[in-house]
Amino acid sequence: MTKKVEVDFQKRLSKEDALYLIQNAPLLELSELASKKKLQLHPEKLTTFIVDRNINYTNVCWVDCKFCAFYRHKKDNDSYVLKFDEIDKKIDELLAIGGTQILFQGGVHPNLKIDYYEELVEHIHTKYPQITIHGFSAIEVDFIARVSKISILEVLKRLQAKGLSSIPGAGAEILSDRVRDIIAPKKLDTSKWLEIHRTAHSIGMKTTATMMFGTVETDEEIIEHWDLIRTLQDETDGFRAFIMWSFQGENTELTKEIPDIKPQSSNRYLRLLAVSRLYLDNFRNLQSSWVTQGSYIGQMALKFGANDLGSTMMEENVVKAAGAANRMNQEEMIRLIKDIDEFPAKRDTAYNILERF
Ligand code: SF4
Repeated sequence: MTKKVEVDFQKRLSKEDALYLIQNAPLLELSELASKKKLQLHPEKLTTFIVDRNINYTNVCWVDCKFCAFYRHKKDNDSYVLKFDEIDKKIDELLAIGGTQILFQGGVHPNLKIDYYEELVEHIHTKYPQITIHGFSAIEVDFIARVSKISILEVLKRLQAKGLSSIPGAGAEILSDRVRDIIAPKKLDTSKWLEIHRTAHSIGMKTTATMMFGTVETDEEIIEHWDLIRTLQDETDGFRAFIMWSFQGENTELTKEIPDIKPQSSNRYLRLLAVSRLYLDNFRNLQSSWVTQGSYIGQMALKFGANDLGSTMMEENVVKAAGAANRMNQEEMIRLIKDIDEFPAKRDTAYNILERF
């Protein structure tokens, strides 16, 4: 029989304890521990969500991540760069359902420089000042700097001046250069991802941290990933949330190259989520990834440490291209939250409460 796991909530979880919990703790005990930690941070039992829309302004990308089924090359028939009026139409539709944020990300287009991005952000921000632009992940920021021959700090400051509010944590995958060299060899390395987030935090720009597991990483590498973001959070307090999801393998090069990579179980997802809640003691918000896990496990995630259901996802193209096509609207989210005796609330990008239900 597995021994009962004791966690001292007065102390930080060590790497060794995290490894022990991932590999040995019974699932229900992890749920109890993560729920206790969540209640310390959110005693009011409010579970939040945001009404937003993903807008992928281009699918053109040169980075060729092997786990990605979304990108196209410029010469491909179905490659695109959205025109400003197409973007406007999407934002108009979002406003019609009470949305407050756009998650604005693309592929990494080889030819677009800082002037294009400045014009784009300025256009959106001027026309829709009520919409928060949460956009451009570290890989885009890094490339804009390189192709425009300016520093990362300058990219971030110039986009911030035009109306960029915060940046998403995409592109972190697993912060281990061994793993990155296998699954996305052309992508920025661990230290660059951390540097971009540190730089954003230094100018008051908040970001999120993410993790995609389920490819070739070890449990130790997962914990190292958490440790790197926990350390940066200690330094800057600039991350608003942690969001974790499992690799979706359909239509990807990685699955063809390494057929041994199998879909991750719900048990594994919930297990890792619970331990992340314990390890990331300086992250107030953890999102449930119902988009990759489905609405039922998305709801269960709230019992394993998550306090936020993320976005209603009016539009999602990236994980859909790799086989995950779950959908949920605001009413369903409210029902799922009430169903586990918590109180639903709509929030904005900064996690301010906008409406309670
Ligand atoms: S994950 Fe992003 S950077 Fe990588 S290939 Fe896909 S679009 Fe490009």
